[in-house]
Amino acid sequence: MTRTVYVNGEYLPETEATVSVFDRGFLFADGVYEVTSVLGGKLIDFDGHAARLERSLTELDMAVRLHRDELLEIHRELVTRNDIEDGLVYLQITRGSDGDRDFVYPAEDTPQTVVLFTQSKPGLADSPAAKKGIRVISIPDLRWDRRDIKTVQLLYPSMGKMAAKAEGCDDAWMIEDGKVTEGTSNNAYIVQGNSIVTRELSTDILHGITRAAVLRFAREAQMQVEERAFTLDEAKAADEAFVTSASTFVMPVVEIDGVALGDGTPGPVARRLREIYLDESRKAAI
Ligand code: PLP
Repeated sequence: MTRTVYVNGEYLPETEATVSVFDRGFLFADGVYEVTSVLGGKLIDFDGHAARLERSLTELDMAVRLHRDELLEIHRELVTRNDIEDGLVYLQITRGSDGDRDFVYPAEDTPQTVVLFTQSKPGLADSPAAKKGIRVISIPDLRWDRRDIKTVQLLYPSMGKMAAKAEGCDDAWMIEDGKVTEGTSNNAYIVQGNSIVTRELSTDILHGITRAAVLRFAREAQMQVEERAFTLDEAKAADEAFVTSASTFVMPVVEIDGVALGDGTPGPVARRLREIYLDESRKAAI
């Protein structure tokens, strides 16, 4: 089946969809994105992703032109047309193009480029990695200082994943001033005794939509949450660790830079939070 994608108001076969070579997303990484997961044909945390999209656009002086209801409609239409049971909807909005390459932004009324596509991932919530846990390496955080904006500048995270792969690992945690900022495409947590520790919100990290939900569920389950930066040494000595993101939900981390955490298997806190997150999110899915 040819995948149907959405480009600037049209639903098209992926082979017929085009974007200008002068698009600022392509030339300047001048664009933002969101990834929303689909479980059982329904969208998880859609409102959170729509709200963060609006914030990302606003922070980059880009107009918010699509109303949340229209966005929801497009997401649902793509899920239906592509018959997605479990998977992801990727959305990208760029500042568009006025037909040439120029560092200066085009006129404000220049049409933005809006692209959405789906990725089918049968059994997304039952990934074998969640049962085994993932292994991470540490790398310096060399990204820019506005990591709270979800831009399409993903070269460094991509390099981080490649560095991890080269060492036979799954992902990288990024370190700044000795402290963990986040994973290449996820928020990072450690568990010390009864306490779940994760970096506080600032411009240093992406404000994960899954993070917000998981912390809310953790507090509702009377778990102790500390929002503060933690060091790489603390992480290696932690009882357990995990990451969260829209595509992996809650994913246990069992090894950091070759140091096994606990007995080297997914810890009880990560496993419980994954279960709660998946249960509650499925119930609230739209
Ligand atoms: N941090 C970074 C750098 C990310 O790229 C992502 C997701 O892509 C996250 C955190 C997790 O955010 P969310 O839970 O909204 O997917």
